[in-house]
Amino acid sequence: MSRSKLVHIREQVLPVMIDIGVINLTQADDLRMVPLGMIRRNATRMHAVCRYHPGPRGGDKGIDDVKEIAIHPVAIEDKWRDYAQFLMYHEMLHAIGHVRHDRLFRDLEARWPDKNARESGPSFGRHLRQRAARWNWTCPRCEREHYRSRRSNGRYLCRVCKVKLIDVPTGQTHDAES
Ligand SMILES: [Zn+2]
Ligand SMILES: [Zn+2]
Repeated sequence: MSRSKLVHIREQVLPVMIDIGVINLTQADDLRMVPLGMIRRNATRMHAVCRYHPGPRGGDKGIDDVKEIAIHPVAIEDKWRDYAQFLMYHEMLHAIGHVRHDRLFRDLEARWPDKNARESGPSFGRHLRQRAARWNWTCPRCEREHYRSRRSNGRYLCRVCKVKLIDVPTGQTHDAES
């Protein structure tokens, strides 16, 4: 199920990479051989990764050196579909040998046509932290909310109202544990 979703995302991304001149047909076929997987569901910092087989440090890398491209399972949910394509694109750039986030890498990355997807990283990060949070520190006056993994226990004041934040359980404890 999730495996077929990953294949589907890859098959959306490869033709675009050909269109924008980043890879040719042969490279697309080689990239189809790269195993696809998922990173840990409760990861909150990593969105996706290109893992290489161990090799000489600092040595050139190519598609044959790639062990796996893995995407965050939350990113393949429908709501984040466009961002998942961009993540796949980013990791494919690593897979074709652009190991570092250097100037060339960023230039290639910027060629991805969906600008909104290119800029979704911060909001996806917030979404991950929010869904992992057990507590919602809430201001009883202005109702500002702060998602946190721990209770505030009366130690924090609302920056605006200067009243104590109260701890409201989010009811989402399952993702913070594993
Ligand atoms: Zn990267
Ligand atoms: Zn307040």
